[in-house]
Amino acid sequence: MANQKTDRADDGVHSASTGFQATPTNFRAIPAVATPGRPGRAGIPLADPALDRIARKLDRGDRLDFADGVAAFHTNDLAGLGSLADREKSRRFGDEVYFVLNRQINPTNACVLDCRFCDYAKRPSDVTHYALTIDEILGRLSPELREVHIVSGLHHEWRFAHYVEIIRQIRRAFPDITIKAWTAVEIDFFAKIEKISVEEVLSTMQDAGLDSMPGGGAEVFSERVRQELFRHKIGADRWLAIHGIAHRMGIPTNATLLYGHIETIEERVTHLLRLREAEETAPGFLAFIPLAFQVGHSGIVERPAGAVDDLKTLAVSRLLLDNIPHIKAYWVMLGEETASLGLNFGADDMDGTVQEEKIAHAALAAGPLGIARERLVALIRGAGKVPVERDALYRIIRRYERDAPGNGMVRP
Ligand code: SF4
Repeated sequence: MANQKTDRADDGVHSASTGFQATPTNFRAIPAVATPGRPGRAGIPLADPALDRIARKLDRGDRLDFADGVAAFHTNDLAGLGSLADREKSRRFGDEVYFVLNRQINPTNACVLDCRFCDYAKRPSDVTHYALTIDEILGRLSPELREVHIVSGLHHEWRFAHYVEIIRQIRRAFPDITIKAWTAVEIDFFAKIEKISVEEVLSTMQDAGLDSMPGGGAEVFSERVRQELFRHKIGADRWLAIHGIAHRMGIPTNATLLYGHIETIEERVTHLLRLREAEETAPGFLAFIPLAFQVGHSGIVERPAGAVDDLKTLAVSRLLLDNIPHIKAYWVMLGEETASLGLNFGADDMDGTVQEEKIAHAALAAGPLGIARERLVALIRGAGKVPVERDALYRIIRRYERDAPGNGMVRP
C-alpha cells in the first residue's frame, strides 16, 4: 500500500463523479506583493541572513531553489522561519484552517511486500493478519462523515474486482461521502495483478465512485533510501507517473514525505522540488502531508524527529511548494500539540477526526485513535485560527465563526 505510517488536486482538473472543479487559483503559485512591515521582514526581525535572503525572494515573487530549502532547514531562527511560512499561508487562506469529519479504513494488514519500516503489515502466512469484509467496512461508516480515507496492505488473495467492489458499495450506501482511496503503490499493484494499464485501473475505480487518491507510498524520493528501506516497493518515477495519470484523468490526489529516518536534509528538499515540478507538469495535487516517521519496533532510528524538526519541515514545505495549495499538520503522527503549533508554521489543515487509524498506531504513534470535532475546533482556535470544515475535495461545509451562537460552535 501506501505509507506504513499514514494514513492519507490549473484548470482541467475535474472529477466527474463529484462535480469538483479545481480552478487556476487553487494550483498556481501566487506572486508575492511586496508589503513593507510584513511578518518575516519588519514584523519579526529575521536573525538569520539566509532567511532574510529568502524573504526578499518571496517579496519579489521569485521561486525558492534547492539552496534556499537546505538553508531554511538549517536555520536556528525557528520563529523567523515560522513567520515566513505563516505569511505565505495567510496570503492564501487568511486565518482559516481546514479539517474534515472523516474515517480511515484499513481493509487488511496482509501484505505481499516487506518494507523495513513497516510495523503494520503481516505476511500472508501470519495467522494474525486481518481482512475486513465489505459489510464490516460499511458498518464503520455513517452518513454524517464527509470523507472516507482507505489505504490497505497488498492482499495475497484479493483480486482487483474485490477492491473495486469496496468502492462501489460504499458509493451506493453513502452517496454523499467523498471517497479518497488507494495509494499509487496499490494502483500499481492492481494494474499488475489484473494485467491492465494504470489508466484502466483508475477509470474502473472512477466508475465505481472513487473521488480522489491519498498521497502515501511516496516515502522519500531517494533511490538510496529505497534500497535500504523499501526496495520491493515502487520508486519515485513510478509514484509520480501514477499521480500524473490520475491528475490528467481528473482525479485529484495528495502527496506525502516520510521524514525522520535515514534520509538527509538534501533528500527531503529534492523530494519537495520533484513534487513542485510534477505539479507544473500535471496539476492536481490538493494537499501535501509531511509524515513524521514513527519509530515503533523498526529499529531503524532510536528516536523520532522531534517538534523542532516537525515544525521546520512544515514551514519549508509551505515555502517550497508554492503550487500545492494545502499543507497538512497531521495530528495523528505529530501529536495534538505539535500539530496545533504547526498551524503557525505554514500548515492550513489538520486532517480530520480519523477515528480508526491502524497504520501509524501499529508503529506506536502518539496521537489518539480518533478525535472529536469539538476537539479539532478547539485546537485550531487555540492556535489563533478560524476552523473551517471541508470535504475531501476542500469544498467548504461550514466556518466556525467566533461570534456564532453556542460559544462559537456552529452545530449542523
Ligand atoms: S509492507 Fe505493505 S503495508 Fe507496509 S508500507 Fe510496505 S507496501 Fe505498505
